Amino acid sequence: MAGKKVLVLGGGFGGVQAAISTRAALDSDHEVTIVDRNRMPHLCGMNPLLIVGERETDKTGRSLGRLANRGIKFVEANIDLIDTDAQNVATSAGTLDYDYLVVALGAAYDWDAVPGARDAYSFYDFDYARRLRRRLSRLGRGKIVLAASKPPYKCPPAPFETAMIINWWARKKGIRKNIDISVYIPEPGPLGVAGKEASMRVRSALDQRGIELITAAGVTEVSTDGREASFTDGSSTSASIIATIPVHRLPDIVAASGIANGKPWVSVDRATLETSTANVFAIGDVNVVPSGDFAIPKAGVFAAGQGTKVGEVIASRINDSDAPEPYDGVGFCFMAYSGGRAATVGGEFLADGGPDTVLTDPSVAGNRSKERFERDWRSFKI
Ligand SMILES: Cc1cc2nc3c(=O)[nH]c(=O)nc-3n(C[C@H](O)[C@H](O)[C@H](O)COP(=O)(O)OP(=O)(O)OC[C@H]3O[C@@H](n4cnc5c(N)ncnc54)[C@H](O)[C@@H]3O)c2cc1C
Repeated sequence: MAGKKVLVLGGGFGGVQAAISTRAALDSDHEVTIVDRNRMPHLCGMNPLLIVGERETDKTGRSLGRLANRGIKFVEANIDLIDTDAQNVATSAGTLDYDYLVVALGAAYDWDAVPGARDAYSFYDFDYARRLRRRLSRLGRGKIVLAASKPPYKCPPAPFETAMIINWWARKKGIRKNIDISVYIPEPGPLGVAGKEASMRVRSALDQRGIELITAAGVTEVSTDGREASFTDGSSTSASIIATIPVHRLPDIVAASGIANGKPWVSVDRATLETSTANVFAIGDVNVVPSGDFAIPKAGVFAAGQGTKVGEVIASRINDSDAPEPYDGVGFCFMAYSGGRAATVGGEFLADGGPDTVLTDPSVAGNRSKERFERDWRSFKI
């Protein structure tokens, strides 16, 4: 059999696991290549602790060049065009052909969708998180606003986790009484995707910590001096720090490729994660997999699980072996309540009869698992 070319676009959670899973199941005459413009992606999940100085900026990344040890070729390049008719991808390092394509390009941020957000603070990107870390280190008093504009956004627990970590940090620093913390979200309640009970428990965790939660209030604008924010419910607030969650959207090159068929995110077969184009798969934040009244959350654990599944599907086609079990939508995210305790939230999002999810109590053991998760990510186990 002639060697096949498997091309993975994006070296985040999903792309890396897709490449590792495919490579593990194929003979060496088949090629697995991964393309990313960024050789050293950072783990966004560390940002909430990074902004309060509890993670080091030089210990949140992993080098994709190390995938060569596993027989995966890494190409550092910008991806410019995906041509599914010609079965090739144009990049700044040349054109790459494929037999099987995995699109794992994540969600793009539209910093201009909310006027003023580009120049405000954020914890949704490594560079923004570093800037917020510098600002927080100088803060002695004032109000901190964390504000989302519209769903979907990555890691639905992140705004609440970040608010609770800031609360913990301010207490530790002895400045909590001088600091107000508010979280504004567009949804009717926190973490709706995890069910009503989890949502109520997050509400009460915020309440117990004196963190103000304002629901059904997506941020619409941040003033040019970054000190005033306006919301969809007609309210506005002034604050020392306004940190927004940027509007998420499909990357332009994915929209231009036609695989999303003009929809906001790429629809896929929920068993195989294949798009409407044969042998072209879309995994992670770039896709949408319906789950009850919601969709599978945009989170790294799901992107990674989908990557593993896609690897199995592609390998079964190349090896002409039995098709693997369908994708199960199982995944758990960590939600830290402080620097020392973390809960998990997640479950089976594609269970018969609807999503079956649970939010555990925060614990020290949960925090140890979170730290293990971070180490495992850096060594490509996740
Ligand atoms: C603050 C925060 C906290 C989070 N916490 C958690 C958590 O605790 N647990 C969890 O599971 N998830 C968490 N997440 C979510 C998680 O980071 C994402 O869901 C996950 O990264 C999605 O994986 P992906 O592979 O789909 O995309 P990504 O990881 O975003 O990877 C996409 C890759 O594509 C590359 N790329 C995009 N366009 C191009 C192009 N044109 N050319 C070349 N390369 C390109 C990018 O450089 C990137 O490396 C968090 C996110 C944030 C922001």
